Amino acid sequence: MHPTEFRIPFNKPALVGPELEYIRQAIAAGQLAGNGLFTKRCQEFFESEYTIHRALLTHSGTAALEMAALLLNLQPGDEVIVPSFTFTSTANAFVLRGVRVVFADSSPTHPNVDVSRLASLITPRTRAVVPVHYAGVACDMAALAALAQAHSLAIVEDAAQAVESYYHQQRLGTFGCLSAFSFHETKNLIAGEGGLLAINDPALARRAEIIWEKGTNRAAFYRGETARYQWVDVGSSFLPSEMTAAYLWAQLEQRQVLQQRRLAQWRQYAEALAPLQALGVELPIIPDYAQQHNGHIFYLICRTAAEQQALLAYLHQLGILAVFHYQTLHDSPYYQAQHDGRPLPHAHRYATQLVRLPLYFDLSAAEQAYVIDAVLAFYQR
Ligand SMILES: *Cc1c(COP(=O)(O)O)cnc(C)c1O
Repeated sequence: MHPTEFRIPFNKPALVGPELEYIRQAIAAGQLAGNGLFTKRCQEFFESEYTIHRALLTHSGTAALEMAALLLNLQPGDEVIVPSFTFTSTANAFVLRGVRVVFADSSPTHPNVDVSRLASLITPRTRAVVPVHYAGVACDMAALAALAQAHSLAIVEDAAQAVESYYHQQRLGTFGCLSAFSFHETKNLIAGEGGLLAINDPALARRAEIIWEKGTNRAAFYRGETARYQWVDVGSSFLPSEMTAAYLWAQLEQRQVLQQRRLAQWRQYAEALAPLQALGVELPIIPDYAQQHNGHIFYLICRTAAEQQALLAYLHQLGILAVFHYQTLHDSPYYQAQHDGRPLPHAHRYATQLVRLPLYFDLSAAEQAYVIDAVLAFYQR
């Protein structure tokens, strides 16, 4: 069955307010290519509201990660530490630079990387570590920052799922020298496809702009800082169109409405499914430092891999598109031969036992109750 044919799909892209009106305005303004009015509005929002030194909108979170890998000037033979339980782009952005990716295991209690066990992965060739804030739940950033500082490693945050989330009182995406957000249609704030590179290290800002604009000094030229518009470095086309930025701007304006609804749904799942914990089914464990999370994903962790498959099949047959998540990268068809052979049992457990439930703006209370009843019924059989 196609995903859209389910009575309750896993996700529906939110249209929350003036998205279409802003797209019309972008067309009327006469510039549909990137770096126009709406792009600037979105970037300035992140710079002021998130206190990011320089924010550059990209056509995807993947593109923001690829820009980060370019900006770190990584060379073949360099090593970057990446969790195994993540999306391919987290690792692929670095593999494109010829870098060796060293995969880290997840924590035993939640899918984020186990920071306490990272030190043993660091070698003289390690250049960077990439925390992924899974489900918008912060990684242990104080411990990670201490480790990175002790070994002179760059931190690149994969904050693709972490817009509007915090570590204690500090926004995610502001810890790394570079951080990537995503506005893919499955994320909390969307543009269809879209992303943003947060440049928190001012020393990287100028080159970031050049890489963003196909290796040219176009942005500086339009600010009148240079007499000619020339090819000055490597780069690519990382800008989104103004239509994308216009859609995103509407979502940024409405972010509180979107976030309130999502967090209420997340809490409803947590409350209603809490009794399952007595059976040994795990619900999300949110560390103290990550209490202000964005409710990006609600998941449960089945007791066995077979139970994951059975629960998914049961829900699908009731018209509910619940889904598993990442397949581990260290033993993926593409990278397993290059992995050093360490088993990563916790990442493996999340790959084979985690189930995500539908969570989206238009999910009605009655629909959510139907999902909850179905999950409870599965465990009462
Ligand atoms: C969504 C996501 C990405 C990729 O973002 P796109 O905008 O889809 O390219 C990267 N990493 C993580 C952890 C993600 O969830």
